[in-house]
Amino acid sequence: MKGLLSLMASMEKIVSLCKRRGFLFQSSEIYGGLQGFWDYGPLGVELKRNLKDAWWRDMCSGHNEMVQPAGAPSTFDMVGLDSTIIMHPQIWKCSGHYDMFHDYMVDCRESKKRYRHDQVRGRWVSHQEAKVFVTTMAEADEEQAEIQHRALKYFKLRPKDAEALVYDGPSTTLDTVDEFSQVLGPDAKTLGTLTEPREFNLMFKTTIGALGGEEDYAFLRPETAQGIFVNFKNVLDSSRINVPFGIAQVGKSFRNEITPRNFTFRSREFEQMEIEFFCHPNSSQDWYRYWRDRRLAWYQTLGLSRESLLMREHAAEELAHYSVGTADIEYAFPFLPKGEYGELEGIAHRGDFDLRSHMEGKLDPSTRPMVVELDEFGKPRHRGSGRDLTYRDDITGERFTPHVIEPSAGADRGALAFLCEAYHEDEAPDENGKPQTRVVMKLHPRLAPIKAAVFPLVKKDGMPELAQEIYAELKRDMAVFYDEKSAVGRRYRRQDEAGTPYCITVDTESLTTQTVTIRDRDTLEQTRVKIGELAAELKRRISG
Ligand code: ATP
Repeated sequence: MKGLLSLMASMEKIVSLCKRRGFLFQSSEIYGGLQGFWDYGPLGVELKRNLKDAWWRDMCSGHNEMVQPAGAPSTFDMVGLDSTIIMHPQIWKCSGHYDMFHDYMVDCRESKKRYRHDQVRGRWVSHQEAKVFVTTMAEADEEQAEIQHRALKYFKLRPKDAEALVYDGPSTTLDTVDEFSQVLGPDAKTLGTLTEPREFNLMFKTTIGALGGEEDYAFLRPETAQGIFVNFKNVLDSSRINVPFGIAQVGKSFRNEITPRNFTFRSREFEQMEIEFFCHPNSSQDWYRYWRDRRLAWYQTLGLSRESLLMREHAAEELAHYSVGTADIEYAFPFLPKGEYGELEGIAHRGDFDLRSHMEGKLDPSTRPMVVELDEFGKPRHRGSGRDLTYRDDITGERFTPHVIEPSAGADRGALAFLCEAYHEDEAPDENGKPQTRVVMKLHPRLAPIKAAVFPLVKKDGMPELAQEIYAELKRDMAVFYDEKSAVGRRYRRQDEAGTPYCITVDTESLTTQTVTIRDRDTLEQTRVKIGELAAELKRRISG
């Protein structure tokens, strides 16, 4: 418990620093905020942009298709895409999102039954020290009798002991209960067996045009992936690339999450960084392993420690209907109890589910191998595009539907993990050499919102003029910050909190020797470099 409290305390400090220094604000704050929506302030926008740029560069634009990366089954191509947020509604019918749109569901891990979240009703019942939310699916006229019967059974009481039960409030629906650990599911014998209400109907609906009839409904995309699948043929025909290849996309996604919480971790509007990687079915398992390992390594190169990361392979029963294998990269967020991790990215082997669904019509997830789901007239329940999305290998002449590996990362969860990892409190000497507690955000230089701050030691003797010259020069290449106000120690500390890795100071010696000092945020080491070599030195350190 003590551990949990101190974790919560550190989360509170991170949240407060984010607001104080302009990383993150609650959306619509002056109107009381809007739950599940967050704005990135001046520092936050730079951090998130740097994260997305690092991903784009490392995964897509910087990829060399002529070199086989370590661990990859072969060389491969990578290209990018930017598809729209609102797309043809049929896409969501074929992808499977539409059918699961209407109901909020919870699953019972014990009884294996599934319930509509808003149809499960119950009452808080106490006996001695214990308090339980006892649920039932009984009709309204039998509800109270059933709740009492189940409560007596749970507390191991006889019917004549009914008076020993204490009710807290009237019966209500399960969606009024936030924490499921004290809930007795409608068919369960033990507590806490109901899963959180999940993803079945999370799409935001909107209307296209002025008429607003049923046929004008459209959805805000709940993932960027489908925009890639429906452009598979366009990309293939326009880019002279061959399977295996990947299409990368970064963009907003929207989910009407039932319980947005944990800062930006579960938001209703968020950004995803997704790759759909198309390969031959025979090599798909090898590509799945490659992407899983490569994505885990990527987080470490940008500063997440291996100990705070977890690679979790899904068990067979946990897999999505289309998936042959899925692994989550998880991070030990400070708002979670010790030993628990939250998902940063999912790497899924989706087989040929998506391309076939968009060709033939929505596949029936209960069939093996999957066939198109039919309606009562024997017609496809949701028609596919009818377009040929198969691929013909020019060398072997073989025609096949590529399999897909999907590394799907969240930019907001990523930014949050890097903020949590970066937060440190340590001691650094002030200008009189006395140790002072400092808050320092140890962000990787590639992610840091400001790469370097430029200070004149004092506001006289030509130092500001020279510092401003250096500032103007550096600004052409990178995000830099100029500050001449207050004592230099305080200026250092403000930059430490912002995560700025380097502070450049112009002092008396600078004027005669044309040199400046570079102070390293983490080691506090100061090195003197020639002004003419400063930009190159900073670039070397940032990319290193
Ligand atoms: P969860 O189980 O946490 O809801 P998910 O498995 O539904 O996540 P995916 O559909 O695999 O998530 O989406 C891929 C990535 O998109 C996630 O790993 C996460 O980083 C991000 N993501 C998904 N939902 C949200 C959300 N509500 N807020 C912020 N990021 C999200």
